[in-house]
Amino acid sequence: MKTISVIVPCFNEEPIVEETNQRLVQVLSSIPDFDYEIIYINDGSKDKTLEVLWKMAKNNPKVKIISFSKNFGHENATFSGLNEVSGDCVVIIDADLQDPPELILDMITLWKSGYDVIYAIRKVREGETWLKKATSKLFYRFLRILSDTDIPLDTGDYRLIDKKVKDALVSLKEKNLFIRGLVSWVGFKQIGLEYHRSPRLKGETKYNFIKLTKLAIDSILAFSNKPLQLSLSFGLFFILASFLGITYILIGKINNPKVIVEGWASMMITILLLGGVQLLSIGILGEYIARIYSEVKGRPNYIIESKANFEQK
Ligand code: UDP
Ligand code: MG
Repeated sequence: MKTISVIVPCFNEEPIVEETNQRLVQVLSSIPDFDYEIIYINDGSKDKTLEVLWKMAKNNPKVKIISFSKNFGHENATFSGLNEVSGDCVVIIDADLQDPPELILDMITLWKSGYDVIYAIRKVREGETWLKKATSKLFYRFLRILSDTDIPLDTGDYRLIDKKVKDALVSLKEKNLFIRGLVSWVGFKQIGLEYHRSPRLKGETKYNFIKLTKLAIDSILAFSNKPLQLSLSFGLFFILASFLGITYILIGKINNPKVIVEGWASMMITILLLGGVQLLSIGILGEYIARIYSEVKGRPNYIIESKANFEQK
């Protein structure tokens, strides 16, 4: 019998996680010839999420828990799930029921027909601000231009991956994780599945503007060297422009040496502009160096405080 594993990262999801579990169990137990396990990762929740999870795990041995010592973030929570799953295929899903669990049935059908990655594409997004939708749309298009990896537009983490894709992912040594991007990067046979993303049923979004911006910067820096090349092109452009300016001034001086120096405004503009470009370039370098630093430190991505219903290894 084959097993399907489901990974659910949870951060302060006390009001909804039980309902999520019911829906998941309902869908998963309706799939013939398949056993299942659901792994909930408690990502340092401050509410009673963990207590609710313990209760669920007590009632159902197929419900497993990984509990972190503090909040390590969504991507790390998902990754810890990947490290612990034992199924033949793995589904990653949010805890807030924005992604309908019923879609797993369609994913399984596609998986059986030979696809290794089935990612869900958000065709409609309800209950999210226009600002979030607009910036997210823009971000995915921007990332596509910058990155050499073909990361599908408008997808979240909701997806089904084959065991071999999971094995490839957990073998990666990267610390700055952008799982959607990494899944694209590892290759294999991939296909998208469109769906209707509903509003969050209970609780509120954990992705505020700052967290989303961080994720966006992480993903761009992890999947593109173009920002580094960008500062190079900027630099070259301004060196060229300043040569033209110098030539212009010299010719002016030779032809009309008595002219009083008037160009204070233009000088200030040049200084400010060049200063800005330099700071920008240094900033871009700094971002990459910060990431090299965090990779070199080799700290673990997360620390597990407790687990439930896993077999003793
Ligand atoms: N999440 C997490 N750790 C965090 C932030 C979020 O495990 O630091 C989980 C959260 O519980 C949810 C999923 O990641 O299951 C997606 O978060 P959310 O629904 O808040 O994001 P949105 O759908 O609004 O982008
Ligand atoms: Mg959500």
